[in-house]
Amino acid sequence: MSLFDLSGRWAIVTGANTGIGRAIAVGLAQAGADIVGVGRSGMAETEADVTAAGRRFVGVAADLATPGIAPSIIAEALAAGATPDILVNNAGIIRRADSLDFTEEDWDAVLDTNLKSAFFLCQAFARAAIAAERPAKIINIASMLSFQGGIRVPSYTAAKSGLAGITKLLANEWAARGINVNAIAPGYVETNNTSALRADAERNADILKRIPAGRWARPEDMAGAAVFLASAASDYVHGAILPVDGGWLAR
Ligand code: NAP
Repeated sequence: MSLFDLSGRWAIVTGANTGIGRAIAVGLAQAGADIVGVGRSGMAETEADVTAAGRRFVGVAADLATPGIAPSIIAEALAAGATPDILVNNAGIIRRADSLDFTEEDWDAVLDTNLKSAFFLCQAFARAAIAAERPAKIINIASMLSFQGGIRVPSYTAAKSGLAGITKLLANEWAARGINVNAIAPGYVETNNTSALRADAERNADILKRIPAGRWARPEDMAGAAVFLASAASDYVHGAILPVDGGWLAR
């Protein structure tokens, strides 16, 4: 059996309708996993790609900013027949404004969706995995701003730096319980999240100039790291924040 084979495992992926979440869901399915897509928008295209790969797809409709929603998401996934094997906390938003003008609403919206929701999904998922006595893998989607400050995105930087911290904390608590908790830190990826940056010619050129690989990432560039962190290949990897950034952090 391949170290990277995910046959017989279920992966719960938040924000699976588009961008990085969609690419990771499809990549995990191509490696053999069945998929639970969690999101607030229709996921028909992801479902089509997952079923084309010969895997099952279950959709769970949820707005992750809703307080207290995490246990019901995991319960719905399990009720649909999924086992608690792999969780990918991918859903996220960004709000851009100068810190002098930044609003409390933009602070709370980003922290609630990108950090609080991810932590409580980890908790509900880990409780289910431990109750089922199954080894499990959690992959959080961090950012370059888990390492760097960024510009005009204070709540996003706080959330992604916090997510890296929580990833390490949960790895410390749960490694001995059979749960690997790690993160992928994508570089600059062509998705809705970065459309404003790519539309700004000056920022776009500045960013591109610093990427050793010489191009923005495509969402599919994140799939291999996700398969690695979801599979037996990473069984002794705990608390890592894995950059997939075309070399950005090496500069
Ligand atoms: P995206 O295309 O904007 O996707 C974001 C996903 O999160 C969408 O599926 C979105 O659903 C979902 N989402 C947001 N708020 C939600 C909520 N309240 N409830 C349920 N789902 C919600 O951007 P992306 O770049 O693929 O982002 C995916 C992750 O990668 C995010 O955590 C982001 O911070 C991270 N990331 C992105 C980059 C990059 O360069 N693009 C770099 C580093 C990290 P809707 O479509 O319904 O809004």
